[in-house]
Amino acid sequence: MRRVSEPLERTLVLLKPDAVERALIGTIITRFENVGLKIVGMKMVWVDADFSKKHYSDHVSKPFYKGLESFITAGPVIAMAIEGISSVDLVRKMVGATEPKKAVPGTIRGDYSQHSYEWADKKGIAIKNLIHASDSLENAQKELKLWFAPSELHSYKTVHEVHVF
Ligand code: AMP
Repeated sequence: MRRVSEPLERTLVLLKPDAVERALIGTIITRFENVGLKIVGMKMVWVDADFSKKHYSDHVSKPFYKGLESFITAGPVIAMAIEGISSVDLVRKMVGATEPKKAVPGTIRGDYSQHSYEWADKKGIAIKNLIHASDSLENAQKELKLWFAPSELHSYKTVHEVHVF
């Protein structure tokens, strides 16, 4: 069990256009709520190419970036700020491996997709892996600043703070 003495963190989660178009928004959010993670910011955004380059600044020069940009700009995404004890690590574990085919059952990617790099490469498209989650606390802070104004992030209490931790 995670302990309240562990750090309370905020992380960025994006439900990518494939998750939105497959009507998996509620299903995925429920998994985070059930474990006691708290949504402290949420909105639907249709990302443009400039914003994609900012969000994926580490990947812009990589060969797969063009496909990634086409994918992330193809439809609206749900952006969420998620708060909880060690939430960066917990959310990454719940999301699973980047390549859904390799993601283990029980993870979000492992349960809702079978996409592989091989198949995506053959089709000349980006891998459809449903969800993005910040990979470190430092990146979470950077990404939250990019996606949310301070006034869009909220502090409130949930019953999980009494019954789950
Ligand atoms: P990351 O910042 O590592 O989460 O990567 C962002 C996204 O880039 C991933 O969710 C994939 O869609 C894509 N990606 C990362 N690495 C690769 C790769 N080696 N080949 C193709 N796409 C990738």
